[in-house]
Amino acid sequence: MKVHESVAQWMAASKDSDPRGRGLVPTMGALHEGHGSLIRRCVQENTQSVVTIYVNPTQFENPEDLSSYPDSLQDDIRYLESLGVSDLVLPQYKELYPFDFTIFVDESLDSRVLCGKNRTGHFKGVLSVVMKLINLTQARRVYFGKKDYQQYRLVSKMVEAFFMPTTVVGLETIRDGDGLALSSRNRRLSDEELATARQLNVLLGNEELSTGEVALQLEKLGFRVEYCEQRWSRRFVAAHLGTVRLIDNVEVTSAAED
Ligand code: AMP
Repeated sequence: MKVHESVAQWMAASKDSDPRGRGLVPTMGALHEGHGSLIRRCVQENTQSVVTIYVNPTQFENPEDLSSYPDSLQDDIRYLESLGVSDLVLPQYKELYPFDFTIFVDESLDSRVLCGKNRTGHFKGVLSVVMKLINLTQARRVYFGKKDYQQYRLVSKMVEAFFMPTTVVGLETIRDGDGLALSSRNRRLSDEELATARQLNVLLGNEELSTGEVALQLEKLGFRVEYCEQRWSRRFVAAHLGTVRLIDNVEVTSAAED
């Protein structure tokens, strides 16, 4: 695997290669099997598989969340090598944001609900960085997890709206044996919090309960619920345990919306 420590290095190394067989998996690192599922698929479907690791500051509204984001680059590199990835790109802020965050992409409908309701600039940061990463890699396929369903939906809309020459592939959420969605943030949970976190998907998937009832039960278990809502034929939750923010979503049979 080639490790490109800057956008400039990646540009120099890729300038003569054909982008038509190129796939991209954008990540923020601290990789786990959830990322692994996207990466395996990318390696299978493309002759060149590019992974980016970049903790994008423009999508964080809370400076503590940004500074405490887990970092495990050496382990990540070993993991990516074991999966057969051809290129890892590690962009630098100044290269990705030559004009700082004065020029950006935004969406004004689906980005204002759920994870965008209280974090109003979040998806502006996400969409902007994803557009940059797709453009600078010229990847023809780009892989996203439905664990972050709202993100997947917004990126798909952006690619369609701007006629970007790439296909967005969405893959199902990977969970542990108890159904907890894998997340880099799970590393920051204590054993006790982890046991509580494993109730999140159990309650979310119980369609006999209204979303209000799910929220109430979660609060009783010690979560601070940010939202629990049904839309787009899915049920979504964001809830905090201590300083850790967890999100999850599941498909539902009822088409009702909150
Ligand atoms: P992140 O590093 O959290 O930005 O995630 C990078 C990509 O991996 C995003 O497309 C996520 O949706 C996806 N991802 C993260 N966790 C999971 C999971 N448990 N299952 C499937 N995809 C995931």
